[in-house]
Parts: sequence; C-alpha cells; structure tokens
Amino acid sequence: MSVMFPAFLDLRGRKVLVVGGGPVAAGKIDSLLAAGANVTVVAPEIRPEIEQLNVEIVRRAFRETDLEGAWWVVAAAPLEVNRSVSEAAGARRIFVNAVDDPQHASAYLGGVVRRDGVTIAVSTDGRAPALAGLLREALDAFLPREIEAWLKTSDEARRRWRAERTPMGARRPQLLSMLNALYASKSHIPTSNAQGTPFAAVALVGAGPGDPELWTQRAVRYLRQADLVLYDSLVDANALRRYTEAQCFCVGKRAGRESVRQETIHRVMIRAARQGKRVVRLKGGDPFVFGRGAEEAMALAAAGIPFEVVPGVTSAIAAPALAGIPVTHRGSASGFLVLSGHATDAFENGLRAVQPNTVSLVVLMGLGSRGELAEKLIARGWDAATPAAIVCGASMPDEWIWTGTVAKLGATEPPAGIAGVVVIGNVVRVRERLVAAEEQKVMYGRNR
Ligand code: SAH
Repeated sequence: MSVMFPAFLDLRGRKVLVVGGGPVAAGKIDSLLAAGANVTVVAPEIRPEIEQLNVEIVRRAFRETDLEGAWWVVAAAPLEVNRSVSEAAGARRIFVNAVDDPQHASAYLGGVVRRDGVTIAVSTDGRAPALAGLLREALDAFLPREIEAWLKTSDEARRRWRAERTPMGARRPQLLSMLNALYASKSHIPTSNAQGTPFAAVALVGAGPGDPELWTQRAVRYLRQADLVLYDSLVDANALRRYTEAQCFCVGKRAGRESVRQETIHRVMIRAARQGKRVVRLKGGDPFVFGRGAEEAMALAAAGIPFEVVPGVTSAIAAPALAGIPVTHRGSASGFLVLSGHATDAFENGLRAVQPNTVSLVVLMGLGSRGELAEKLIARGWDAATPAAIVCGASMPDEWIWTGTVAKLGATEPPAGIAGVVVIGNVVRVRERLVAAEEQKVMYGRNR
C-alpha cells in the first residue's frame, strides 16, 4: 500500500534550488522553468547548456545556506552531496526530490502525462521509475486526443451548474451525455483519422507488401481495436495473430479454394458493423490499388455504414524499391505507369496512354502473362532491349528477384505461388549500381 500523498505544486515565482550541474540536473531544469519557478543552480561545474538557461548560477560546492528561501530542492549531484542536501533540507522542512536516488528523497516525481490542460502523474513511491514510464505511455495512448474539447465542455458545464444551482447528483450524467455528443457530432464520412480516436465501424486497411514492419501505425492500432478482421491471402496470417485478438477470416484465394465472393464480403462487413462490431478489412498493399477497395467502400456507403480508408504501402512502388529499383529516377524516368496484367487487352489499352520508353512501367498481376505482355510492348514500339525486372515476394523471406530485358521476360521462370511485379524501364539499371555498391559493403536494403 502506498503512503504517498499526491499533490501538484504551483512553483510560479518561487525559488527552487537545483544542486548539480550535469546532464541529470539539466534534464530537470526545463520542466521547472516551464512551471514558472525561479531556479538557482549550485555546483562546482555547470554544463554550458544550463548556463544558457534563465537560471541563477552559483559555481561552487553546495552550502546549507543555499537553501535560504527555497520552496523545493532537486538533488541531482553525486550520492554524498545528495545526502548532505537531504539532511540540510530536512532540517529546514523543505522537500527534496533526489533524482534516481530514492533514499535521499522526501518527494518523488511521477511519470507525467500532459495533454492540453490535463496532467496525470503516476507514482510508484520512487521504487520503479521505469514502470512509471511504461504506465505513463499506456495512459498517454488511452487519453482522448481531443481532451481540450472535453475540458472546455466541462468548464462551461460547471459555470452553468453553478448559475442554475444544479444538484450534484444530476451533474455527472449531464456531463457524460455532453461528452458523448462531442463524438456524435463528428461526421461519418470517411475522413482521415489523425486524432487517434477509435475508428469508424469498418476500416479498409492497407497491409503493405507483406512484412508487418511495413504496416502503418494506424493499421496496427486498428487491428488491436478490431472485433473482426477479414483479410486477403497476401496478408501473413501468422503475423496477424500477433497483432490482434479479433476473429480473423481469410476471404482471399487460398490453395485449392476459391476466394469468397465480393458480394459475400460486403454482406459480412455490413452485418458485423450493424451488430456494433469494429471490422478491419485488411488488404495487401494499398486498399485502393487493384484491391477492389473502392467497391467495398461504395457498398458500405450505400448501406450507410461509417467507414474509413487506411492507406498502405503499395507493392507497385515497394516491391521495386526493395529490389533497389526506383520507379522514378532523374535522367531515367520522370514518371511511372502502374498497370494490371490480368487482362491483356486492358493492359494494351493502358499502354496506349504513353509513348514507348518514356516512363517506367510497373505491372501487377502480370506474372502469368509476362511473355504476352512483352510481345505487346514490343509491338507497341518499346525497345526489346529495355531493362526489365521481376520481383516476387517483396519484403518476405522468399523474396526472389530477376533482372534482364523485355525480350527475355517470357522465358524467365519465377517461382510458382508467390505474388510478383514486373518492372520495365531504364530505372531497372539502378539496381545494378546499388548491388555493386553492396558488394563494396555499402549496404543496400536488409536481405540482399
Ligand atoms: N493492393 C495491392 C495490389 C493487389 S493486386 C497493392 O497495392 O500492392 C495483387 C498483386 O500485387 C500481385 O499480383 C502482385 O503483382 C502484387 N504484389 C502484392 N504483394 C507483393 C509482394 N510482396 N511482392 C511483389 N508483388 C506483390
């Protein structure tokens, strides 16, 4: 059981003595100054960064008389100095905060979370500062971002209660419904959610090319908050379990099994959302790049389900990048075109948008038709000797990279069963330079 008495000090205009002039002292002075204290620093040696602050400097060893007029003392000196500070301060009935030195302290600072006008301090009675730090972080994550609005609402309510002499018992429920209204008034159109509040009923979340380290922080946070996760086959199911306790269903194509029909996915999402579940629809790469994400968004919109989109790292850019191929490069390509190779006539249509050999080309879902795609390129006037690359399983342990030319695309055999992109253009040459640099131990990337 803790016997500590929690309190917040108003140090404005009051003298605070800091004994010690090293980094530990420096670390405390900022927060004292921020609280408006008049700080005096005593130590034989004082760091230049402390001298630059708005503090009084006394450059010598601590003397008992330095405590004259002080309301609060911070002992941030070697142990034996802290001891004499502690004794002298005790004799004068002044509280001492001894940094990292609990036996010479009579006052302990907490792990502090400050947001707008709210301060929360965590105490472990000076026993476990590291734990206080962790708890502090947890509280920070838990606190609403819009706490300033909460404060304002509560402040206004308090004035009104006073004026109207509202009885105590009626105040709390009133405040709760006012705070709830703050949320209800938020629009339900899919806005970007920078605030850190819980997400709308459904989130269409991008999962990047594979490695969970490339998931966004928002993706991770939403997965933690989710009740139901519907994920594509490109998403690493084992990794997923490490990030969420939600029910997880694979709705993508899996070995020997067809993917769940798009309408079924829509129906499941809508039903779960109506039951009050928070649904994450997790898709490989970016949800709006060949992921049918927009179809799902429209189905949700039509059903009146609030949703939002969480962009992801698209394989169209990341797979080449991880292989050392930039999609643009000064002198090689000033733009890039991302096409699907799934339907070759649509691919041909897309090609018509650009002059041959003017941009980098990235083809998704094109491994199966790579030979045919190469023929179409050459027929459209692309040089058969244009550099080309295939990058499979980017960011994953089974990553596989080939480079050659458009003419050789068809004869190349990428490993079966792994997703891959085809990259075409002079930018592919950049990889050779980076690989050469790697051989000279100027490392590129992680797994090459
Ligand atoms: N929305 C996804 C693309 C979905 S289409 C995105 O933005 O990345 C599926 C295609 O993505 C695959 O056919 C393949 O071309 C590509 N792809 C997905 N993950 C990949 C990876 N790890 N490495 C290479 N290509 C990948």
